[in-house]
Amino acid sequence: SIPLTFFSGIGGASKKGILVKGSNYFEALANTEIVVFDKTGTLTKGVFGVKEVHAKEVSEEELIKLAAYAESYSNHPISQSILKAYGKEIDKKAITDVEEISGHGVIARVNGKKIAAGNAKLMKKLGIPYFDGELAGTVVHVAVDNIYAGYILIADDIKSDSAHAIKELKNSNIKQIIMLTGDSVNVGENVGKELGLSKVYAELLPADKVEKLEELLSQTSGKGSLAYVGDGINDAPVLARADVGIAMGGLGSDAAIEAADVVIMTDEPSKVPLAINIAKKVLGISN
Ligand code: ADP
Ligand code: MG
Repeated sequence: SIPLTFFSGIGGASKKGILVKGSNYFEALANTEIVVFDKTGTLTKGVFGVKEVHAKEVSEEELIKLAAYAESYSNHPISQSILKAYGKEIDKKAITDVEEISGHGVIARVNGKKIAAGNAKLMKKLGIPYFDGELAGTVVHVAVDNIYAGYILIADDIKSDSAHAIKELKNSNIKQIIMLTGDSVNVGENVGKELGLSKVYAELLPADKVEKLEELLSQTSGKGSLAYVGDGINDAPVLARADVGIAMGGLGSDAAIEAADVVIMTDEPSKVPLAINIAKKVLGISN
């Protein structure tokens, strides 16, 4: 039978905004050795501001408009940010043939023109030459009918709670704190340095994230476990594969809540060390 403490543990955790889907996860949480975070929306706010617009062939306003139209069916944090930067209503009748390619971006027809908005991988896939210089942020390249039309440079801030979370994890003797991201090496390394993470793996497609997770799972010791923390956008398979999949509910994604073992109702990464500490208490393990 399950000791009463497991029930009170679940109740106590839920009062702190941490939903543990089963008492069996306390054991895995308490034995966490490796914590793997997603970047966008997990360690960073997931709310990108536009820093720079560099348009060719079309005006800057037109570039943002075309990107916003192409992005209007996506629920990726990047699309939300571009829609906000455009700030006007979208005439959905103008949009057809929408295709979202995870880890790349979107392609859609806007008034019959083929608009592609996404990263370097998307431009490469389409065989479109693009601006390849180093920029301080996340780059959304835009092409119109397969002709490069410029880029929108966006940037996302690290959550103020993230540094606190990492410090707490280090205090609870977590061996490795790792970040996986589909974003560029440049952006990933900056976040990693700022937060003092053990390691950053960047430019990963959703399938690469699963592969990397498998590799990291094999680095835990016998009883030790790996916790993955993500928002579920393009990473639900990783959430499902981890010993403990933790979804950050701040942005709210059904896929994440479904795939996760633990759901954090707020957008605070510091709930992760808190969940680990609650689990240790439930199992009577001192730090
Ligand atoms: P992460 O959560 O680590 O950023 P994703 O797989 O969600 O990983 O995205 C990886 C990269 O793919 C993004 O940094 C961006 O360059 C590109 N991307 C994904 N979705 C979109 C989108 N809707 N519009 C533009 N770019 C996108
Ligand atoms: Mg993500």
